[in-house]
Amino acid sequence: MNNAKQAVVVGAGFGGLALAIRLQAAGMQTTLLEKRDKPGGRAYVYEDQGFVFDAGPTVITDPTAIEELFTVAGKKMSDYIEMLPVAPFYRLCWEDGHHFDYVNDQESLDRQIHARNPKDVAGYQQFLAYSKAVFEEGYLKLGAVPFLSFRDMIAAGPQLARLQAWRSVYSMVSRFIEDDHLRQAFSFHSLLVGGNPFATSSIYTLIHALERRWGVWFPRGGTGALILALVRLFEDLGGRIELNASVARIDTSGNCATGVRLEDGRVFPAQMVASNADVVHTYGSLLGHHPRGVSEAASLSKKRFSNSLFVLYFGLDHHHEQLRHHTVCFGPRYEGLIKDIFKGQQLADDFSLYLHAPCVTDPSLAPPGCGSHYVLAPVPHLGNADIDWDVEGPRYRDRIFDYLEERYMPGLRSQLVTSRIFTPHDFRDELNAHVGSAFSLEPILTQSAWFRPHNRDRDVSNLYLVGAGTHPGAGVPGVIGSAKATAGLMLEDAAQ
Ligand SMILES: Cc1cc2nc3c(=O)[nH]c(=O)nc-3n(C[C@H](O)[C@H](O)[C@H](O)COP(=O)(O)OP(=O)(O)OC[C@H]3O[C@@H](n4cnc5c(N)ncnc54)[C@H](O)[C@@H]3O)c2cc1C
Repeated sequence: MNNAKQAVVVGAGFGGLALAIRLQAAGMQTTLLEKRDKPGGRAYVYEDQGFVFDAGPTVITDPTAIEELFTVAGKKMSDYIEMLPVAPFYRLCWEDGHHFDYVNDQESLDRQIHARNPKDVAGYQQFLAYSKAVFEEGYLKLGAVPFLSFRDMIAAGPQLARLQAWRSVYSMVSRFIEDDHLRQAFSFHSLLVGGNPFATSSIYTLIHALERRWGVWFPRGGTGALILALVRLFEDLGGRIELNASVARIDTSGNCATGVRLEDGRVFPAQMVASNADVVHTYGSLLGHHPRGVSEAASLSKKRFSNSLFVLYFGLDHHHEQLRHHTVCFGPRYEGLIKDIFKGQQLADDFSLYLHAPCVTDPSLAPPGCGSHYVLAPVPHLGNADIDWDVEGPRYRDRIFDYLEERYMPGLRSQLVTSRIFTPHDFRDELNAHVGSAFSLEPILTQSAWFRPHNRDRDVSNLYLVGAGTHPGAGVPGVIGSAKATAGLMLEDAAQ
């Protein structure tokens, strides 16, 4: 039955790829159309003078969700990609010189927590128990459910109430943990998926349990190698991917999508269309000729969007052995800085950084003895702070280089071989991201689950969404979960 239908998926991010694989594996002829010259979306790859830079996701969690894509296709993940464990998961550093190695070893965690505040050892156990309970409910049970009707939301209500989902991540962590550094260490995770720890539902503390359960991984060859493995899997199944294929419009006949039309005029007819592109772009531009597109884009534009990011990729002719694979460099302020990032109308004078040093795990990502790196700073999106990044970008880069050289990577500037930046303008222009948001709609409770754009459109009944703007939200496990929910709907609809 599914063989009779053809599907088009717009956008080859993790979400679009995961959906296309599931559809193709179920026998639906699927074409994946990607605007850029390489697949991956946020997980794009830059290469320069032997340095390989993963553009976005580097902390790979829940490998079982990735493995499932191979299993449903009747293949073995290990035939396509090797996943390497990362330890510590992260090194967290503060300006007072303190650091905390976040590891999956309880004894080491207890020792480090005890050194900060003995009382927090027991508090951490309570926090971990809470985080595990939220993980069971929010991730294992609801992470790949499409939430099409409000009834689904009401059904989840009692559990959400029991888990006090209305509280913020930070307030929940603070219930259990007293030490200021440790409160930061166990609450910053929501920032990885665009959530403000002071506003995002405490449901997002589940990331902690998720990391403890399955660990943190890095694909050999980088996240880009994982993307290529997924593309190869899709093609091995008979799927077709077109790069440099920017979709201009989703064609419709009444309330039915009939296919898509590219900027270059090519037309791809299909019985089912799914978009992995930004949700405002999908409704406002691709469906902008249809009343549904106009009204939904207007309503989405009024919602709260996650912050943007400033990302600086750089290659050095030196390997900094003192670094760990993932380092979080906390700046002088936590709550104040986060407020500036989510609500501020200009760039703050200080910053907190995430520093990626993948050669610690896989030296093949740079020439021998060298190091590929990226560093990112969360910054306001363009709807809040209309910063001229053409001017500010190079200045911000220099400030970050100075900071890293002084505190983390002595000699950095003299070792510099290559660098490039990616600013909120690039999120907007390269990825079609509304207001240059790095993670789409902000994951607050009133924009989660049923309140998020649904995986199937309300009116255009054969139009589907997948990716960070839908349930459950941003992050690699999130968008792979959304692909499972969307694929389930599409295959069910196709069978009717
Ligand atoms: C710098 C950075 C670091 C991150 N780090 C992590 C991390 O360590 N771990 C983690 O789990 N998550 C991380 N994230 C979040 C995670 O990367 C994203 O939430 C996730 O990859 C988004 O996937 P997606 O499928 O929703 O869409 P995207 O990756 O955004 O893909 C959408 C695709 O649609 C294409 N597209 C848009 N418009 C069109 C059009 N008109 N026609 C054709 N194609 C179009 C785009 O080019 C893009 O390829 C990070 C994000 C960023 C930006």
